[in-house]
Amino acid sequence: MQPGGSKRELAVGWEAEAVAAAEPQAAAAAEQVRVDAGASGEPERKAREESAKDPVPAQPRATEEGDARVLPRPPPALPVSRPKLALAPGLWPQGKPRSKGQSCKRSPSRRSGEYHSLRPVTVDSSKARTSLDALKISIRQLQWKEFPFGRRLPCDIYWHGVSFHDSDIYSGQVNKFPGMTEMVRKITLSRAVRIMQSLFPEEYNFYPRSWILPDEFQLFAAQVRMVKDGNPSWKPTFIVKPDGGCQGDGIYLIKDPSDIRLAGTLQRRPAVVQEYICKPLLIDKLKFDIRLYVLLKSLDPLEIYIAKDGLSRFCTEPYQEPTPKNLHHIFMHLTNYSLNIHSGNFVHSDSTSTGSKRTFSSILCRLSSKGVDIKKVWSDIISLVIKTVIALTPELKVFYQSDIPAGRPGPTCFQILGFDILLMKNLKPILLEVNANPSMRIEHEQELSPGVFENVPSLVDEEVKVAVIRDTLRLMDPLKKKRENHFPGMCTERKPRLPPVSDRRSPAKRHLSRLSTVRSQQLEKPEAGKEDPSDSDLAFASDGNLNPEAHLPSICLKQVFPKYAKQFNYLRLVDRMANLFIRFLGIKGTMKLGPTGFRTFIRNCKLSSSSLSMAAVDILYIDITRRWNSMTLDQRDSGMCLQAFVEAFFYLAQRKFKLLPLHKQVASLIDLCEYHLSLLDEKRLVCGRSGRPGGRPPYSGTPQEAAPAAPPAESDLRPCTAKLSHPRHAPA
Ligand code: ADP
Repeated sequence: MQPGGSKRELAVGWEAEAVAAAEPQAAAAAEQVRVDAGASGEPERKAREESAKDPVPAQPRATEEGDARVLPRPPPALPVSRPKLALAPGLWPQGKPRSKGQSCKRSPSRRSGEYHSLRPVTVDSSKARTSLDALKISIRQLQWKEFPFGRRLPCDIYWHGVSFHDSDIYSGQVNKFPGMTEMVRKITLSRAVRIMQSLFPEEYNFYPRSWILPDEFQLFAAQVRMVKDGNPSWKPTFIVKPDGGCQGDGIYLIKDPSDIRLAGTLQRRPAVVQEYICKPLLIDKLKFDIRLYVLLKSLDPLEIYIAKDGLSRFCTEPYQEPTPKNLHHIFMHLTNYSLNIHSGNFVHSDSTSTGSKRTFSSILCRLSSKGVDIKKVWSDIISLVIKTVIALTPELKVFYQSDIPAGRPGPTCFQILGFDILLMKNLKPILLEVNANPSMRIEHEQELSPGVFENVPSLVDEEVKVAVIRDTLRLMDPLKKKRENHFPGMCTERKPRLPPVSDRRSPAKRHLSRLSTVRSQQLEKPEAGKEDPSDSDLAFASDGNLNPEAHLPSICLKQVFPKYAKQFNYLRLVDRMANLFIRFLGIKGTMKLGPTGFRTFIRNCKLSSSSLSMAAVDILYIDITRRWNSMTLDQRDSGMCLQAFVEAFFYLAQRKFKLLPLHKQVASLIDLCEYHLSLLDEKRLVCGRSGRPGGRPPYSGTPQEAAPAAPPAESDLRPCTAKLSHPRHAPA
């Protein structure tokens, strides 16, 4: 199914999305603002926060996101006396339960009046690492309040540079989902996409065929041999990418499976070997890729936004199709900025439409001028992004319930992902990888004189990344609803009043200015009344316009889901399987299903029969679980992981609904399970028993999940085989 509707709508306009956010922390607000103003309780804290008004604090900087070499920040000073406000919600583990990835709603308090609804949103940037500069600019543009050294009281938003676990938080919103880093590793992503490919091969053909090394080396070699035997003129190229690698680290091209460097490192460092896309679209004879920023605003319900502009990173050596002679020319084949910056041909440019790093919009302009249908390109890219997120969400949900079990306090999550996409010569987008921590740096290293390097602002990075961070914050704004009530029409389309970064500086200044200069211009403006809430309100009105967002351009993030949900919901089968899986996990906090949970699933869904005894169910469980546990690195819990459950589910579906295509078999079995479970829930309700295994609502999200389906009829016809089914469980 093609997202036909999207084609029309996508390029028509990137109107600002009015997104409802949750209610503010009204109950705590009055107290927080008072303490922020230094009223009581935290004298030392106040001194530290004030010092943050001085030029940018010398934060330890990592070379890249995820770099472990970041120095710890100084430990927070102990309060002189325990502030009464320590009871603010979120600090104690009795917070209200909330659903996954949705904003916390807190009950309004009488103390929070109209005034406090206008308090600035607070952002803890103490763990922001390399995104700090872009974050600071964003906070400044929004006239929000930054806590660069963290805060004893809860903040509305926590900005982490690496992962959900960067700090312990129990409330507010954090810009990382638990498990995302694991999910987008090359092997995990390949596995997740492969499950979707087995269900929907056409829909998921945007990801190159991949094999996991070393486990599937024999399979890889055998499949290549088979195709070559059938077509001797086939001269494929493959790319080997170490799992968990980044910046092109350890990547190499091969022409034959025998070229894989199996000796030594592979066992220690698993990898993915992938079909190499030999015919990329070239511009100026150079290969390039696209970095697009995608906001996963919420997991359940699923909400996805795409930034309307991204970056294009260019190779620095003219492209030729791979031959044994040029395979090792990294500047020809790998588009990584971190590699090409070391090429003598790398071009730093003041313009966003020339040089080795450009805006994606400039590429689209150029393609459009050549008659390319860029609406179709965008539509295909949006489709790729939605499908990829749909592949990732089932396991993310398992991570989520493990790290933030329902009913326990915890923050809600959102995350900016970096999608790396290659356009083929025929303009088909190909997914290369997803980055959980896309670099948000807005400066680059430049050699000023031989051997002398300095960080200088990168206009193209700043233009794209600041907009992404700022508008992510705007979408996540916990006070948005309140502010909208004060400033009706605040989110309506308006002309940008902030010109693009590139237009705001003279060429000479752009070239010469050092990062520190830019910081002093953009970051160090004294924050009027930083600690005084009434001054914050004045700041909103300082330009005579009461709308605090009046000076901002329209939001650069475009909602694509649930906007196009109708076109893509049919793909969410594994998501529904994950809902079943989570329901039977039983003990909160675990990610693997025990044998009893699996048996209960079979019983409650009425899947056992004369031809599938409970003893056979046990053997199925043991067999699949053992194999998956030997393959996966995660040995935290014993039991059946989600992928193993999916494999068992496929097997059961094939057994029960024979001769249908796999996705129909699976959909029918899910319908059947959901039907029986809804009956069970009704029965329990009638009996006055509230407890469900796992203690969570069974289905949420898709319409299919909401309505109990009629039990599908079983087919008596012969079975189909599916890629995922293990030979030992081939349907009887
Ligand atoms: P890393 O995380 O190390 O950057 P990527 O998967 O992004 O790894 O690959 C690095 C670069 O290699 C990409 O930017 C792209 O230029 C090139 N590349 C990766 N996979 C393919 C592929 N299947 N076909 C063609 N080029 C690829």
